[in-house]
Amino acid sequence: MSLIACDNVGFSYEGKPVLENLNLQVEAGDFLCVVGENGSGKTTLVKGLLGLLPPAKGRIALGDGVKRSQIGYLPQQSESQRDFPASVWEVVSAGTRSRGPLLTKQQKDRVRRNMERMNVLDLKSRSFTELSGGQRQRVLLARALSAADQLLLLDEPTAGLDPLVTVELYRMVAGLHRQGMTIIMITHDIPAALQHARHILHLSTAENFYGTTAQYAASPLGKLFAGGTTNG
Ligand code: ADP
Repeated sequence: MSLIACDNVGFSYEGKPVLENLNLQVEAGDFLCVVGENGSGKTTLVKGLLGLLPPAKGRIALGDGVKRSQIGYLPQQSESQRDFPASVWEVVSAGTRSRGPLLTKQQKDRVRRNMERMNVLDLKSRSFTELSGGQRQRVLLARALSAADQLLLLDEPTAGLDPLVTVELYRMVAGLHRQGMTIIMITHDIPAALQHARHILHLSTAENFYGTTAQYAASPLGKLFAGGTTNG
């Protein structure tokens, strides 16, 4: 069974429909990029996948053994998060959703391992607010990994990062995917989606596209947005 299946899903705000007839399946090991202009419903879909907004129509089914609490979520960066007064270690530890103030040895090992994976262990005593944008995103990825065994949901992870740091972050996300993590990434970066994704969902006020990356590249929508880089 798929990790996530959306079956004719639609949402609405105060009776006004947003996203209609959405069908998609995210399999274990998949890399799905969700693209689309502002207002097309990307944030609404994220809220739906996290269980924060129930669909008005259709059904979102999670596969056996997947719990919403195990979806590692990297939110869009916001000013308030940047000013979060905590150390890097505390931020990443928060991903373990420990009930009390103390982590078990197992949880500490997990936090340390994920910090090593994201190359931020040497920052562990630093204040989160002092970090560069790229360092902050790697710390937040380590936090998301501490919550997630299988699935990461990344909401515009490279927004506001400079080009070199962006490439580095994509390289890290691709590495996690190679290690078996299933990735859903919201992005405005269509070239990056074409490079990394296995499937693409392009939300549009006209018509949505969902298919493999090759199908997207060959579609009229894909050709339009990829800047005519594909043939056929
Ligand atoms: P995106 O993330 O792609 O920019 P959103 O999911 O934020 O798109 O928004 C999709 C549509 O839903 C837009 O027309 C937006 O105005 C509307 N919308 C989003 N959130 C709300 C809300 N809380 N109440 C009413 N309308 C909303």
